[in-house]
Amino acid sequence: MTTTAQIILRRGKEESLLRRHPWIFSGAIEQIKTPAATPLHEGALVEVYTRSGEFIAQGHYQIGSIAVRVLSFEQEPIDQAWWNHRIEVAYHVRTTLGLTHSTETTCYRLIHGEGDSLPGLVVDIYGSTAVVQCHSVGMYLARYQIAEALRTVYGDGLTAIYDKSSQTLPYKANTGAVDGYLWGSTESPSQVVRENGLQFAVNWEAGQKTGFFLDQRENRELVKRYAKGRTVLNTFCYTGGFSVYAAEGGAVEVCSVDSSERAVQLAAENMELNFGDRVPHTAVAADAVEYIRDIGSRYDLIILDPPAFAKHHKVLGNAMQGYKRINARALAQIKPGGILFTFSCSQAVSKELFRTTVFSAAAIAGRKVRILHQLTQPADHPINIYHPEGEYLKGLVLYVE
Ligand code: SAH
Repeated sequence: MTTTAQIILRRGKEESLLRRHPWIFSGAIEQIKTPAATPLHEGALVEVYTRSGEFIAQGHYQIGSIAVRVLSFEQEPIDQAWWNHRIEVAYHVRTTLGLTHSTETTCYRLIHGEGDSLPGLVVDIYGSTAVVQCHSVGMYLARYQIAEALRTVYGDGLTAIYDKSSQTLPYKANTGAVDGYLWGSTESPSQVVRENGLQFAVNWEAGQKTGFFLDQRENRELVKRYAKGRTVLNTFCYTGGFSVYAAEGGAVEVCSVDSSERAVQLAAENMELNFGDRVPHTAVAADAVEYIRDIGSRYDLIILDPPAFAKHHKVLGNAMQGYKRINARALAQIKPGGILFTFSCSQAVSKELFRTTVFSAAAIAGRKVRILHQLTQPADHPINIYHPEGEYLKGLVLYVE
């Protein structure tokens, strides 16, 4: 008798799974069969069957609107060898991208959830430290197998594996998760890493997310290309990633704004780490939405990289107003010939909706605007072709006449 619970789908509800979409919504479930009528706990591995009894997938059970996150469409054991294999495949992809052996870039994303067929799991690499962030209880319960797989794949290349899931696990699951090292240790929770040859101090214990926003790596390169001779305003700056690249590209002056005191301090530290006091830099702790209300025409390169305004579809309307407001303010005031980099990292906001919103902002500002580039997330944040929702980062580079 099997010890794995079986999820039986309602008639026809296997359609999206046959197209390898990795989520099963609670409304698609007809029946849950648990062995010996034991209750099914969140995070358990379950098998999924069609109503007529065909195996279709297996994955982690979750309480909520997504009921199962698929790990595999095969009837195979999800054992240590399975974890090793999945992480090895992800590692090979990053090797293909030139990230695993680079001295110029020593930080990258190794596992990007659904994009690496590991829904609910994020692993970021900072030098010889791996930071694991679980977004589902299933992944959290597997954290030691994940750590073991990381050690197998990296060998001596890793000295520490830090689990930072306490803030990302479903709040209602009550896991009591405490952040800490799953394996190894580091002398300090902060390490200077390199990204495209530039240096950043990353603190995975105290920082936001896993410590650094790796997803803007390539977009920062583009800021560098446009920065020469420009006066730059970097709003929602966090660690000052865009500020450092702008300075490297020859900006004459950079201003970094974030509502978090700690963030602007980090931005200032990273500017100093790379340039000493050679590039004039001001770091302002302020609400960026208010700050750009009255910036005059001083700036000719502005970056808007707000946090996800829309965390859910329900708040989409307000979020779009928020995006429109900041974009209209930036577009109205930017110096003629200026360049605006504008982003949305809300998964709930589609590329089209973001574009339409920025169009409206341009119309409100009454400026002549050209789209120079349409940006997205870098290749170490891959998109599972069967899960287009995974494309979350959207950006536009605009030339404002
Ligand atoms: N551009 C950054 C990432 C930005 S993350 C990078 O390249 O690394 C979003 C940042 O916005 C966070 O640092 C957060 O502290 C900040 N933030 C959130 N609300 C804000 C507000 N109203 N005004 C200014 N900053 C805000």
